Amino acid sequence: MTEQYQHRARKRFGQNFLHDAGVIDRILRSIHAREGERLLEIGPGQGALTEGLLGSGAQLDVVELDKDLVPILNQQFAGRGNFRLHQGDALKFDFNTLGAAPGSLRVVGNLPYNISTPLIFHLLSNAGLIRDMHFMLQKEVVERMAAGPGGGDWGRLSIMVQYHCRVEHLFNVGPGAFNPPPKVDSAIVRLVPHETLPHPAKDHKLLERIVREAFNQRRKTLRNTLKALLSSEEITAAGVDGSLRPEQLDLAAFVRLADKLFEQNGAA
Ligand code: SAM
Repeated sequence: MTEQYQHRARKRFGQNFLHDAGVIDRILRSIHAREGERLLEIGPGQGALTEGLLGSGAQLDVVELDKDLVPILNQQFAGRGNFRLHQGDALKFDFNTLGAAPGSLRVVGNLPYNISTPLIFHLLSNAGLIRDMHFMLQKEVVERMAAGPGGGDWGRLSIMVQYHCRVEHLFNVGPGAFNPPPKVDSAIVRLVPHETLPHPAKDHKLLERIVREAFNQRRKTLRNTLKALLSSEEITAAGVDGSLRPEQLDLAAFVRLADKLFEQNGAA
């Protein structure tokens, strides 16, 4: 008799396993992995996407936090020469240890919703290593990533993600595609790091600080929210109208404010 492992989905690990073959196929077609490519899957779970990714012939590393899933994954995939499992927390994983060439790593994952934003920031700090990323996220998070200035979705996440990447909201996925079904709608997003940053800041830490301060109170004018960092005159000198609210500013304007702060105070 073959050994059978039964796994109960754990809420604290954000486990909502994909079971809809049509959705799995659509995700795999969007990723379109090829032989010889370097892939990294975050949170393979019970392998819903893993099988198809390995089938492409790509070299696949997976990072899974839940120790109980390790035997299930190994039972299915350990015999495959292009599979490597890392048990641990993707938030602490050093992606440089994978030995992938700069700009080559393709990152994929149906991400646990509780870690999706910090994980994407962790990945963006290694953006030079990454060719592209395909993630299943909460639909609202994808909408915020893909938003443009002027609306309620435009904020810290949109700006910091778009600073590094081109963002494509590919398609939405309803709760029924998962087991157990999540309470929210999901969406697949593609993030492609820019080869050359369209609006490079002199110090991206200062950009983060300006954006965080500005959106802390998104109903107030920039002159008000940025008071502790830049004077009204400095905001004007950066070519920005201080009477605007943060959601009315585009990425280039935030970068000008960050560079003005750099001129005044030096690096963060
Ligand atoms: N990829 C599988 C699927 O589509 O069916 C599972 C997706 S499930 C939403 C998220 C997976 O991420 C789970 O397997 C969970 O154990 C794992 N996970 C949660 N937190 C993690 C972390 N910090 N690092 C790595 N994996 C994590």
